[in-house]
Amino acid sequence: MAGIARDDCVALDLRNPLGHLRDLFSLPDGTIYLDGNSLGALPVATLARITDTVVNEWGIGLIRSWNSANWMELTSTVGDKIARLVGAEPGEVIITDSTSVNIFKVLSFAAEIGQRADSQRRSIVVERDTFPTDVYMADSVARIHGMKVVNAPTAELGEVITQPSTAVVLLTHVDYRSGAMHDMAAITRVAHEAGALVVWDLSHSAGAVPIDLHGVDADFAIGCGYKFLNGGPGAPSFVWVHPRLVNEPVSQPLCGWLGHASPFAFSDEYSPASGVRRFLCGTPPVLSLAALDCGVDTVLAAESHGGVGALHQNALALSSLFAELVEQRVASHGIRCVTDTTTPQRGSHLSFVAPTGAYAIVQALIHRGVVGDYREPDFMRFGITPLYTRFVDIWDAVEQLTQVLDSGDWKLPQYSERKAIT
Ligand SMILES: *Cc1c(COP(=O)(O)O)cnc(C)c1O
Repeated sequence: MAGIARDDCVALDLRNPLGHLRDLFSLPDGTIYLDGNSLGALPVATLARITDTVVNEWGIGLIRSWNSANWMELTSTVGDKIARLVGAEPGEVIITDSTSVNIFKVLSFAAEIGQRADSQRRSIVVERDTFPTDVYMADSVARIHGMKVVNAPTAELGEVITQPSTAVVLLTHVDYRSGAMHDMAAITRVAHEAGALVVWDLSHSAGAVPIDLHGVDADFAIGCGYKFLNGGPGAPSFVWVHPRLVNEPVSQPLCGWLGHASPFAFSDEYSPASGVRRFLCGTPPVLSLAALDCGVDTVLAAESHGGVGALHQNALALSSLFAELVEQRVASHGIRCVTDTTTPQRGSHLSFVAPTGAYAIVQALIHRGVVGDYREPDFMRFGITPLYTRFVDIWDAVEQLTQVLDSGDWKLPQYSERKAIT
């Protein structure tokens, strides 16, 4: 096989119509950042925005800024921007709480709708080996509603979803380890034909792959603000509910005052706001929302260059190159790609397994400035964010990986010491 030269990658970068978007980010020199699927990089605009929010809006405006700086409206103005990335309409997306909390609220809401329609529908279906918080939250909801969770292996999902006992299905659109992407339209159709509802977790897809919530006739979606949306550590999460379901006469389980129809009436009786605002709970994190606003803007900046579709195409090209270079250069070390790069039905990250030492290899790479991450039990995961990842970064990352493996560097004891966060 003809080798791919570094110069070929430089040439690809020069021809990339999205290449200039990298300038929207403040990236440290000497680092190849391949973990934007876990924590998106810092946008240049964020620092000035946060400074303004702190110094002027908080410092000088003080409590007046809830009105004068529209603090309260950020939950929906930023939501409206995310709506453009996921095929939703203005007013349908709200930013609130963490992804875990939103999974709980939305899944509980969906489960209640399912049970009201047919009390025999007592199960919540999740995919085996999905992100743990999704499973834990499904367990919590099942306990509260007297339901049960069915952990289905991927291959059996179709069959399990169509069981008459299925009330709601919670699925992660893009798998956090393998990068495999579900067919949202097909699964939603199968579920609807069987009378079940579907909650989509878009944590690894919003801002990375094209999503058309109305086009696939989805029911519910939630997603993460700090991954491909670049909202910063702990950025709040978003909720979308189809308009045909959002005003159903069931309540989400955490009825806080800001989800009330008129919070400032300070009424003793809870009456939910109409639409998705009923999924609000308490006071929004204004600093984090300001940062998320800047993060979402970086993805929207691609809109005039083909949008998320073009970003995804670039991510596919970048990750295919990564897999090809690994195959050419380090296959002899037994490194195997677990992401199926023969299909475009995949997200923006890819994972490899190593016969031994996956954790240490990732640490040795991080030491050399190539930042990916490790996921149990033996996954080396690399996130591609085409907003700032270049072809030459992929080439350089695989060069470092080759050096780490050929030299046996990764066997140094310091690389095997487990850190609290992997
Ligand atoms: C990242 C991620 C989450 C994150 O949940 P937090 O509440 O923000 O910690 C949830 N689900 C999936 C599938 C994720 O990838």
